[in-house]
Amino acid sequence: MELKIVENREIAKNTFSLKIENPALFDIKPGQFFMVRINGFNYPLLRRPFSVANFTGNYIEIIYRVVGEGTKILTDKKVGEFIDLLGPLGNGFDEIAENKKIMLVGGGIGAAPLIYLSSVLKNRHKTPYEAFFGFNSKDEIYVDFGSIATMDGSSGFDGNVVDMIEDRLNEDTFIFACGPTIMMKRLAYVCYDKGCGMKVSLESRMACGIGVCLGCVVESQNGFKKVCEDGPVFDFREIVWQAM
Ligand SMILES: Cc1cc2nc3c(=O)[nH]c(=O)nc-3n(C[C@H](O)[C@H](O)[C@H](O)COP(=O)(O)OP(=O)(O)OC[C@H]3O[C@@H](n4cnc5c(N)ncnc54)[C@H](O)[C@@H]3O)c2cc1C
Repeated sequence: MELKIVENREIAKNTFSLKIENPALFDIKPGQFFMVRINGFNYPLLRRPFSVANFTGNYIEIIYRVVGEGTKILTDKKVGEFIDLLGPLGNGFDEIAENKKIMLVGGGIGAAPLIYLSSVLKNRHKTPYEAFFGFNSKDEIYVDFGSIATMDGSSGFDGNVVDMIEDRLNEDTFIFACGPTIMMKRLAYVCYDKGCGMKVSLESRMACGIGVCLGCVVESQNGFKKVCEDGPVFDFREIVWQAM
């Protein structure tokens, strides 16, 4: 599906917002993602997966961090150019957590899908929630809501986002989380300890996005699962965190 780019600009250090026209062909669940063809040429050959950070009547927004060749090439895309998207893919977050205190917890670029989730919770479900986001430093912050933690102490809580929220967690808490593996692993152990519920979106490296290549499998209590097809959202108790 070739769609027109309506915006592509840097919104924080090495972090870009890519807005693409909404073709009004489908609905998108928070946590779903697109496999994006970076170039019309063969290089890079493989599409890259990106979560939906916002979905409005006018556009689909992807927020991406520049980490390698593909994301570097994306920064050169101009308004009016077309980009090839495959999706929406994956299961997405099931936003309902009845009678629980909902927390969104994101780390780095993992905050992106939680932005869309927050707007669905607020506008569609009228459900209260709190949001907590961790970044390395102030210049990497690209969210404009929630409580912030920074590793270098340059904004908000001085330290990581799990330390910031740990004391607030209990059996009545339900977390929706996305972030680097090291953060998710720590959060999972804390959730076991505190007895809270949690759905995690995993951002394993993946090549095809449609369940064919098996490049993104993770070990679960019920055998290996494909992040692209069975996920990317899982109940945290399903994942074998020791293997991550
Ligand atoms: C379901 C899903 C959703 C995602 N959503 C987003 C998003 O919304 N925004 C965003 O910026 N990124 C997201 N990612 C990660 C994104 O796909 C990668 O950053 C991107 O593919 C890197 O492409 P590249 O060509 O620039 O880097 P490459 O040249 O492929 O790699 C550069 C470096 O980044 C590392 N890397 C690449 N992919 C990952 C990964 N998935 N996890 C950890 N390290 C990785 C490589 O090991 C290497 O060191 C998501 C990944 C998945 C699986």
